[in-house]
Amino acid sequence: MVRARIKAVDLRRPDLRRPFPRHFVKRLTGETVVALTRRAKYLLASLSSGETLLMHLGMSGWFRVVRDLPAARPAKIDPHDHVVFHMSSGKAVVFNDPRRFGVMDLVRSGQLRDHQVLSRLGPEPLSGDFDAGALARACRGKKTSLKATLLDQRVVAGLGNIYASEALHVAGLSPGRPASILATPRGAPREAAYRLAAAIKQVLEKAVSRRSDDGYRGSPFLVYDRQDEPCLKKKCGGSIRRRTQGGRSTFYCPVCQR
Ligand SMILES: [Zn+2]
Repeated sequence: MVRARIKAVDLRRPDLRRPFPRHFVKRLTGETVVALTRRAKYLLASLSSGETLLMHLGMSGWFRVVRDLPAARPAKIDPHDHVVFHMSSGKAVVFNDPRRFGVMDLVRSGQLRDHQVLSRLGPEPLSGDFDAGALARACRGKKTSLKATLLDQRVVAGLGNIYASEALHVAGLSPGRPASILATPRGAPREAAYRLAAAIKQVLEKAVSRRSDDGYRGSPFLVYDRQDEPCLKKKCGGSIRRRTQGGRSTFYCPVCQR
């Protein structure tokens, strides 16, 4: 998409989780994608028009890039293909989303920071802005559980349910403990905050690098979806448990996570 022009947009339904913005097709057609970036779980395509196409995959959304066929022989369309971007590069970029929790919106690029879904986001976990100090400041005096805190996008942006469980396991912290244990009463980081900030970066970096490893097979997770299976930490001997916190599944080892 980058540096290619959007020749045409095939919009196959009026909405995903929310309706598409007004004149969606018209506002995209003929524009060049200047850059593709990301903030938290939002994909951002900045356009030559001065607008940004903001996209979220929701639960089940994904993109595929295929060779664009002439209009006379249209590409095979799946019932869950909702948006097709026909690019000047000769590629079609297809958004498929069976459950339709995805989001697409168009925002003036200069107002992106103030967009309702982006304005309250905390630091990017892999950036220098996120460290033990930032984590401790956000957790000072907080009675909410560590697990729920890691899912709070104001504390750290874009860390999902799976990697919150994984990071707590790597850090050896029990998901049910209050977030306040990471900080002194003045908001300075305790040792656990250093461990947890490092664990978050470690599990995300591992996940990103795995994405480029096509040969990967088997469960990539330490605790997620491993209920009743043995803990993988050396000499631990515990087995993984599952509990529900705030309506989401948490997987943890009760022996080595304290
Ligand atoms: Zn364990």
